[in-house]
Amino acid sequence: MPGRSSIMPVISFSAVDSALSSLKTCHVSINTGIEVTTDVALALTEHEGSAEEVSKMEKLMLDYVSMDRELEQFIHVVEDVTNQIKQERPERLPDMKLLVNKKFNEVQNLNKDEDLLKTDIYRHFKSQLNEMKKQVGAGSQNESTSANEIDEDIAVTQSQRNFICPITQRELQCPVKNKVCGHSYEEEAIIKIIQTKHKQKKKARCPVVGCDNGDMNQSDLSTDSTLRRAIESHRRFQTRRLLDTQTVGNEGEYIRST
Ligand SMILES: [Zn+2]
Repeated sequence: MPGRSSIMPVISFSAVDSALSSLKTCHVSINTGIEVTTDVALALTEHEGSAEEVSKMEKLMLDYVSMDRELEQFIHVVEDVTNQIKQERPERLPDMKLLVNKKFNEVQNLNKDEDLLKTDIYRHFKSQLNEMKKQVGAGSQNESTSANEIDEDIAVTQSQRNFICPITQRELQCPVKNKVCGHSYEEEAIIKIIQTKHKQKKKARCPVVGCDNGDMNQSDLSTDSTLRRAIESHRRFQTRRLLDTQTVGNEGEYIRST
C-alpha cells in the first residue's frame, strides 16, 4: 500500500505526557503530607499524647498511603493505555479516556484496605512510632508510670542510658545507627574508630560490649533521627522538670533530694 503512511493521522501524545508529568508532581504533595503526619505522630508519642490522637494520625497516614496507591495506579494505567494505543492501527483507535477509566476501575476493584497496612510507607511509619515509644521509655507500662513518681524516675534513667554513647560515655549529640547490628554511637567517635582501624588494615569491631559485629564500615552508618528526636525531647523534658523543681523549691514547700 504505497503512500499509506503519508495519510496516517498524526497522533500527538505530548498532551498526555505533560498531563502525566504534572500528575507526578502530586507525589510531592502526598510525600509532604506523609512527612508532616509522621512528625506529628512522633511528637504525640514523644509527649505521651492520648492513644486516640495517635490513632487519628495512623488513619490519616492510611489515607495518604491510599492516595499514593491510587495515583501510582492511575499513572500506570495511563502509561499502559498510551503504549497500547501507539501499537494500534489508526482506524482502530479506541477512545483513550474510556479505556483509561475502564482499566483504572478494574485495578481499583482489586484493591484491598488491608494491603495499605503492608506498604513500605505505612510499615516504616509504624516502626518509627514503635522506636519512639521504646526510646522515650513509654512502653506498655506507660499508664502506671505516669501515676507513679518512682516508676517515672526509673523510666527516665532507663531511657537516659540509651542516650549515652558507648564510646564517649557522654550523651549523644549526633547519633548514627549501625544498620548491621542496630547499635548507635556518636558520629564523630565511631568514624574515628573505623578510620583508625582501617588505616592499620584491621577490621573495626563494634564497641558495644557483647556485640558480635566484628567488621564495621562507614557505609553501615546512617543518622539515627528517631534517637536524635528522642534525645531532644528528653532534654526539653529535663529542662521543664528542672524549672518545675526550682519553682517548687523557691516556694519552700518541697525540695528534691536529688
Ligand atoms: Zn553493635
